[in-house]
Amino acid sequence: MAGGDNLDFEIRPASQPVPAVERAALMANPGFGRIFTDHMVTIRYADSKGWYDARVEPRAPIALDPAAAVLHYAQEIFEGLKAYRSADGGVTTFRADANARRFRESATRMAMPHLSDDLFLGSIRELVQVDRDWVPTDPEGSLYLRPFMFASEVFLGVRPALEYLYCLIASPVGSYFAGGVKPATMWVSTEYTRAAPGGTGAAKCGGNYAASLVAQAEAIEQGCDQVVFLDTREQKYIDELGGMNIVFVLDDGTLVTPPLTGTILPGITRDSVLTLARDEGRAVQERPVSVDEWREGARSGRIRETFACGTAAVITPVGAVKSRDYEFSIGGGEPGPVTMALRERLVNIQRGNAEDPYGWVQ
Ligand code: PMP
Repeated sequence: MAGGDNLDFEIRPASQPVPAVERAALMANPGFGRIFTDHMVTIRYADSKGWYDARVEPRAPIALDPAAAVLHYAQEIFEGLKAYRSADGGVTTFRADANARRFRESATRMAMPHLSDDLFLGSIRELVQVDRDWVPTDPEGSLYLRPFMFASEVFLGVRPALEYLYCLIASPVGSYFAGGVKPATMWVSTEYTRAAPGGTGAAKCGGNYAASLVAQAEAIEQGCDQVVFLDTREQKYIDELGGMNIVFVLDDGTLVTPPLTGTILPGITRDSVLTLARDEGRAVQERPVSVDEWREGARSGRIRETFACGTAAVITPVGAVKSRDYEFSIGGGEPGPVTMALRERLVNIQRGNAEDPYGWVQ
């Protein structure tokens, strides 16, 4: 098949898909990222011919040569988005075009080839189509989609690889907050940082997460849910969390969030929340926020609420903050009204229960 961006997907259906009864049992309590659908998409790339061999095939282990470049130099990027079951039984995705764009931007930073938006979105369409029975009907559930790409070239030289594999897998997931929305506790890491200016902080590459794990583990050890990373220069300003962006709500209703200066991931949930807030007439400031401002604001009441946002949990209220030297709570540790109203508004658009004036739902 000719390489390029107008590939047709060859469909190779699984000969032994999970039987419906077994699938229903698995999906009754899916958790996160533990069970997977019957199929996956793969597309290969070689510098000499571009993208080729686009396939929907049975999900199976990938054979890798021990000298495959990704295993040594971690040239890998990924995305995360969800497909939802709509009220009429159809399946929708939320801002998949924004994930396609971020995937290209991550590729640029990691010296990898671009996958066209047509192929990225086409892969999602094809996989959701063959595995549509795996999209939960439970109103809290969704099908988590994980596109990723890595250097498959067999070569130990340190340079951008000449061969890549793009792959898309899917995993039914349940409600992030099984027993209702609960405020999370944050651990402010003063020992580890996530991303320096000029580094890979704005790219969704596996290496960023590998580097964050020790800090996240420390957060868990300290009884917290997520780690807060500070800037690398002064260890003074808040960047983001291990896997979510952070937003502060001031006493006059203004939303404040750290700016996109290259050290944080440009979250699609972050962008959606800021858009909704602006359109309901709220002031929105994208500017640095120091830990001192957060602490003092929580004490004085200037900062009424804080929430984390990302695809997995959409919006999570932050109730308390801990670090080596201090501890404080926000809004009495309860979910704030602005946080919960934005959460409801966004979830309703995502799930097709409210009008979507933005064309976000496809
Ligand atoms: N920051 C990091 C480090 C993340 O891993 C994520 C999750 N992708 C986010 C922010 C939120 O991004 P999004 O809203 O696009 O899921």
